[in-house]
Amino acid sequence: MRYSKFLLKTQKEQPSDVDSTSMSLMVRAGMIKKVSAGLFHYMPYFNMILRKVSYQIRRAMDSVNCNEMKFPILVSRETLEKSGRWNAFGKEMFKLTDRNGVDFAISPTNEEYATLVAGAYVRSYNDLPFSIYQIQQKHRDEIRPRDGLVRAREFTMKDAYSFHEDVADLEKYYKKMGEAYTRLFTTLGLKTVPVVADQGAMGGLYCHEYMALASEGEADIAFCEKCGYGANLETVEIKDTYKEDMRFKGRYKEVITPDTKRIVDLVKMLGREPSDFVKSMVYNADGKLVMALVRGDREVNEAKLAKLLRCADLELATEKEIASIGSVMGYVGPVGELRNVRVIGDYEIKAMTNFVVGGNKKNVHYIDVNNADFKCEWADLRFADGNDVCPVCGGKLDITKGNELGHIFALGTRYTDKFGTTYIGRDGKQHIMQMGCYGIGLERTVASIIDQHHDDKGLVLPVCVAPFVADIVVVDVNKSEQMAAGEKLYEELEEKGYPILLDDRNERAGVKFNDFELIGLPIRITIGRALERGEVEIDVRKTGEKLTCKIEDVEKTIKKILKALN
Ligand SMILES: [Zn+2]
Repeated sequence: MRYSKFLLKTQKEQPSDVDSTSMSLMVRAGMIKKVSAGLFHYMPYFNMILRKVSYQIRRAMDSVNCNEMKFPILVSRETLEKSGRWNAFGKEMFKLTDRNGVDFAISPTNEEYATLVAGAYVRSYNDLPFSIYQIQQKHRDEIRPRDGLVRAREFTMKDAYSFHEDVADLEKYYKKMGEAYTRLFTTLGLKTVPVVADQGAMGGLYCHEYMALASEGEADIAFCEKCGYGANLETVEIKDTYKEDMRFKGRYKEVITPDTKRIVDLVKMLGREPSDFVKSMVYNADGKLVMALVRGDREVNEAKLAKLLRCADLELATEKEIASIGSVMGYVGPVGELRNVRVIGDYEIKAMTNFVVGGNKKNVHYIDVNNADFKCEWADLRFADGNDVCPVCGGKLDITKGNELGHIFALGTRYTDKFGTTYIGRDGKQHIMQMGCYGIGLERTVASIIDQHHDDKGLVLPVCVAPFVADIVVVDVNKSEQMAAGEKLYEELEEKGYPILLDDRNERAGVKFNDFELIGLPIRITIGRALERGEVEIDVRKTGEKLTCKIEDVEKTIKKILKALN
């Protein structure tokens, strides 16, 4: 591609209306152009990178015998009601009505269609496992579309679906797909962690998210370098490693603490640390009252509490409800006579001594309380932090931020049951198929590649996603010998299969060098003064390496560099 003909307009200024480094770089490198909140034009350079990423995804799908096809973007209300997702998806799904009054949705994901295809093409166990995928635009009616590509209204997704004889075969394929994801992200130069995640609206047996590590990521994740365990921060299990301390029963004292509903006020008044307190939170769990205890500087992990209680609705109790257990809002504690409330303490409190709790009377707290002074059940109720250990191997758990790139689900029979998707089994009888589904967000993948591969001058693209392997910069296009040498080298390298950008613009060399650094191609070949000696200069973007070589040795040299970069 000749730069003079290439629609690639870079900008020097930092854009003001973006929310991440990768987004800022994409705008400056002329890759995307915002249309309105959550909608973007993908400019040619971005589109080329997206195509490279798609190519690698297709190779990964080939490796697990998954067939590419395409489903309609519109899906009828009738089909989505059959699976229960017409309502389950809520307001995020775009809906529309045709001229005959038939309701459709713009398909959020395609479990329903995939199930229909499996039903139409699979006859017996001989046809299983059966797996299909597509790469298609998706639309989401985001509440708050952000300025980045991470929460856009429209994006590209690879969604794959697999069908199986039994759970064992589903698990085998799920594992294979997971390995293909790990290989794919490694090929793309991405550091990712698979984490155990929540099923959400998809339902099913279990699922994993593939998170790209990102300093500005949207999710908090914990991972163990030693064994590879990863989880969203909310779901990290904290093991009970504490012994109960029963030594100091009954030594607590009542103290009068006026106007100290908040821990900060109390900390000041009593001259103690927040970690010397036990916070008591009362919840209404499906109509039953529960008191959850955590250390004063912690928060109750409501997801863990809800899971423990197996409740659908978990809400903080009202003032009236708190009064009904024999306490007072702002002064709740586990010590003393309480009515109709289940008390659950976080494991960590087992190891605490002489702490402060609410006295269940206005303006009253108890100090020097120990865990033998009240009755409670023990459970894991808090969020993990940087000091917790891996629940699998006991290794150090790192807390970091990440962005979700892919999500894989073992769905079981959640959809195949509803659509009656059966096959003839080895016993000659009809059986319901087991199903899995596997997504990857393409724009998110590109954004993460940029997030993990840039420096203060711009992108540093890995070779496998770079639209061109090298940028030939003709220093002075008005010098005919430089221009002729550039053209000749460009033609020769293109001929040999190297995609090349020829910077033939009538611009100062400095502008061209800056653009090379900003758009982040792997190699720069500079045709300037050294041409008088029959030489060109070569710069490697990633390593900063500089060398000169004879013009006839350019191909050999860049071949070597590209091999080293891979
Ligand atoms: Zn571990």
